[in-house]
This record gives sequence, structure tokens and C-alpha cells, in this order.
Amino acid sequence: MTVLGAIADDFTGATDLAGLLARSGVRVRLHTGVPQGPPDDDGAAFEVIALKIRTASLDEALAEALAALKWLRHAGAMRFFWKYCSTFDSTPAGNIGPVAEMLMRELGVTQTIYCASFPENGRRVFMGNLFVHEAPLNESPMKDHPLTPMRDSNLLRLLAPQVTGRVGLADRTIVALGPVALRKRLDMLAAEGIAHVVVDAIDNSDLDSVATACRSMVLMTGGSAVAMPLPRLYLQDGTLSRIADKPVIPALGPGAVVLSGSASDMSNRQVADYLSRGAPSFRLDPVILAKAGTSAVLDWLAAQDLLRAPLIYATANPETVRASQNQLGVACAGEIVEAALAACAIRARDLGAARIVVAGGETSGAVTRALGVRQMEIGPEVAPGVPWCFCTSGSTKIALILKSGNFGAETFFSDALSLLDAP
Ligand code: ADP
Repeated sequence: MTVLGAIADDFTGATDLAGLLARSGVRVRLHTGVPQGPPDDDGAAFEVIALKIRTASLDEALAEALAALKWLRHAGAMRFFWKYCSTFDSTPAGNIGPVAEMLMRELGVTQTIYCASFPENGRRVFMGNLFVHEAPLNESPMKDHPLTPMRDSNLLRLLAPQVTGRVGLADRTIVALGPVALRKRLDMLAAEGIAHVVVDAIDNSDLDSVATACRSMVLMTGGSAVAMPLPRLYLQDGTLSRIADKPVIPALGPGAVVLSGSASDMSNRQVADYLSRGAPSFRLDPVILAKAGTSAVLDWLAAQDLLRAPLIYATANPETVRASQNQLGVACAGEIVEAALAACAIRARDLGAARIVVAGGETSGAVTRALGVRQMEIGPEVAPGVPWCFCTSGSTKIALILKSGNFGAETFFSDALSLLDAP
């Protein structure tokens, strides 16, 4: 029976959440897009639906999230989680707040929380302000994100224009007192008519308190990490009866490819590290792609030895990204890169790559859709929030990594490939 239904605003966010839930040993099933058929009998306790609505139009985001909610309710879920990025990636128009408000309305709840913290990845919220490691969000590399540049660190200020209800804060001084105190504060804020509560958390014990205080809420929202304690809490209170069997790592072909469409600071370092190891590589330039199409990269790929896990990347420094955006427009440059990497993924699979590592949230969405992957079982985690996922594409069994741009260590690409090589 489905205990928790989660809706994620992008594909890497969904695998991140699914990976953290699966740490507890529970079976987590991830769907890419709203499943077309009704829920089956093989449902997992935790069902996650990955959408690609972080930067979609508001109408599209609301419609997709509503369809996902309906499917999860049909699957029997009584509690729901709205997952967005731990760096609160959004524009003043949304989509984090409007989707949360729509879900609240549908579920008939008057209050929810916003807990973006992911301390293992350096995201912490203190006094409503989001930090990325030591830097406030608006001084972190997120200020230069190609699609959702984050120019303010205060989550209350970011959220307020996105919602119609009132926004409040449960700060660290309350969270540090533990779940009972936090529950009281939330009730107090509810009595004052505060519908949207930003909740501080700076370490995993804070997240435990937040999850404990909020585990009965019909709707929670946040980054992935605040959901991590939920399986354990549900086991303790009997909501979940047992830990299901973990998925078996399937036998996979040896070929691999790495596709990086993230322009994040960490992805730049990961690409540089992987190149320094002598990986065969092809750099995509959106301006050249716009003029000449993808035949050059696809021909190059066809000539590669996939046992050497070649790298195809558009990852570049902010100045280079801005230069191509100035020529093509932000959305157009992004779409050209995403479409090219999606075409590379299909070609790589057809050439025998059974392990495909993708860097970038939007990029992952484009690649997964192109590969026709509808459902994944969650496997071992390479880095916090980045698991291998097992699925079928066409008629081929493949393993996929969908890595959010800033996640993972510098050695991520080689770490990921060697994890599945291990006996
Ligand atoms: P992240 O997880 O780092 O946010 P995304 O894939 O979500 O990565 O977003 C990066 C966006 O930037 C994508 O739309 C991608 O196509 C685009 N992009 C990547 N490289 C370039 C580039 N060199 N020039 C312009 N846009 C780029």
C-alpha cells in the first residue's frame, strides 16, 4: 500500500528524493511523468512522480501537478510531499508556491511547511535565509543559474510573491527545542492564519525534529532531505508495516556514456576532473548546434569505444553560457543543448551504452523522456541524493544517473561508473 505520494518538480530532484527514502531500505518506485495507466497491485510504499515543471508555464505546472496528485490518491496515498530544489530554484511567478497552494486546496489543508535544507549537500536554512555551504544563496553560484538565477537568499521574501496566503517562519531557536515545541509553534502560526511556514534546519537532527513534528501533515513541502526520516517514523508509528526487499542490481552491458548539460560550478569541476583522467570527450556549443545540427556529435559518438565511457558536455563557465544565451536567447540555447544531449543518449543506448550518467536537472528530464523511461527502481547511492536508477529503455535494461548540477564530489563521474563496476 502506498504510504506517501511525492511529486517532484524535476527529474534529478525526484531521484534525489527517491534515493534518500530508499536509504532506509524501503522500496521506492519512481515514475517519470504521470503514469498513463491506473496504479497497479505492485505499488511501492513510497511512490515518487517526477515532473519537469520547475521552469514550465504556471498553467502547465499546475495541470501536471494536479494529475500527479490524482494518480497518487488513486494509488491510496494519504500523505503527500511536494519536492523542489534545496536551493529553492524558482522565479517570482513560481512555480513552488502556486503548486503548493493548489495541492493544499485539493487536499483541504490550511497549512504546510517549506523546508529546503539539505545539510549533507551544504544547503542550510537559518532565520529563513538559505545558505549554500558558507555563502548566502544570492552569493552562491546559483546567482548565475541559466534558467532560475537566485538573487535573494530570504525564503520568506522569495515565497511571498508566489502565494496568496500568508507566509511565516519557524526559526532554528524553535526547531532546536525539538518536535513538540515546533508542533506548538506551527499550531500557533495556523491559529494566526499563517498558511505557509518556512522552517529552518541546519543539520540532520533538525530535520529529524521537523519530520517528527510534521509527519502527520497531509502535505509537506521541501528539498528531499526533510523526507529522509519519514520511512523510519512511519515504521515506528505503524503506518508502514515492513521494509520491502531492495531491488536487485540487474545484469547490464559494459558500455557507458556521460552526458553533462549542467552549467553549474560543480558540474564544471566534475567535467574538468573527468577530462583530466583522459576521458574521450566532445564539447557541445549551442551556437554551432543551432547552425549545423547534431550530426557531428552523433558521428563522433558512433566512432567511440563505449568501454571508455566517453563524455559529451555543454558545461561551460558563466561567461561562455551568457555569450551563447545572448546570441540564441536563454530558453532557445537551453533547449538546443537539451535536445542534442537527448539525441546522444538515444544513439549511445543503441550503440550499447547500458550505463548513462546525466548531469543537470532539465537535461535529465529531456534525456529520460527521449529514452522513453517511464518507471525506475532505485539502486545504490553514488553521492548524497544521487542514486543509480534501473529501468528499461526500448527493450534494453539500462542504469541511469540523473544528477542535479551541483551535487556530487569533483570525482563524481568516475565514482559513479566504478560503483556499478564493483563486484
Ligand atoms: P542544473 O541541474 O545545473 O540546474 P540543468 O540541466 O537543469 O542543470 O540546467 C542547465 C540549463 O543550461 C539547461 O537548459 C542546459 O541546456 C543549459 N545549458 C547548458 N550548457 C549551456 C551552454 N553552454 N550555453 C547555454 N545554455 C546551456
